[in-house]
Amino acid sequence: MQILRTIPEVRAARQQVQGSIGLVPTMGYLHEGHLALVRAARTQNDHCWATLFVNSLQFGSNKDFTTYPRDLPRDLAMFEAWGADVVFVPEAGTMYAQDFSSFVEVENLTERLEGAARPGHFRGVTTVVCKLLNITQPHRAYFGRKDAQQLRVIQRMVRDLAMPTTIVPIETVREADGLALASRNVHLQPDERQAAQALHQALQAAQQRYAAGERNADVLRAAMHAVLANEPLINVDYVSIADDESLAELTTVAGPALASLAVHIGTTRLIDAMELRCEITTL
Ligand code: AMP
Repeated sequence: MQILRTIPEVRAARQQVQGSIGLVPTMGYLHEGHLALVRAARTQNDHCWATLFVNSLQFGSNKDFTTYPRDLPRDLAMFEAWGADVVFVPEAGTMYAQDFSSFVEVENLTERLEGAARPGHFRGVTTVVCKLLNITQPHRAYFGRKDAQQLRVIQRMVRDLAMPTTIVPIETVREADGLALASRNVHLQPDERQAAQALHQALQAAQQRYAAGERNADVLRAAMHAVLANEPLINVDYVSIADDESLAELTTVAGPALASLAVHIGTTRLIDAMELRCEITTL
């Protein structure tokens, strides 16, 4: 596995490549969710490339950025064991020069949900993803469905700007009790970890009501709130039943829809999402 740290190094490696590249952008502190992306990238492409960069631009508070879990040696060993061919690990200064002044912004879609809760977050995400795609020039790039709005925002950016990379969504990998794997889960105290099961349970409650025929979005949101209210350690940031494409809140579910939520448990903020499906599912 090649570990590359500068843009010229990546450009040189890119020129050597024959065949397709599948890119897995990450912020590190890897887990099985990231592994699912790497597996898909390996299966669907001739080469699997990954990036590892904790992107300051997408963090609101400096504290969230500095406390984001990091373990570079462990991450590199995991990428190697998983069969990545190249990992790009840029320094902050490589990505953002002192006088860096160009940003990518997707409008409308970024104003809701995570965008409303975390002003500037998606501007940071789209700017870094655009730059990483420009540097690595992959045929495909892999993103998790857990970060449902991020996935849609990146798909929109790639479509709007005619970027020549196919965005491939990957299903959320969960713990046995349903908690979506996330780097930030490491911050949860044992009682908070226990309470965190309620995120998936709340999504399932909405999904079950939906599968049973409920189409009133207020009823579906109330079903999610009811589950979360059972956990005193959980502070709800938002609960949403939204149009799957525009992410506008719905009154009635008449087409593809996304259930999503964000909560605080202690000092940790967690998000999760589920596309509503007609069949009853235990996912
Ligand atoms: P992160 O390192 O948290 O920025 O995540 C890197 C990529 O992995 C993003 O596309 C995430 O959506 C994806 N990802 C994170 N957690 C999971 C998970 N539990 N299952 C599937 N994909 C995930």
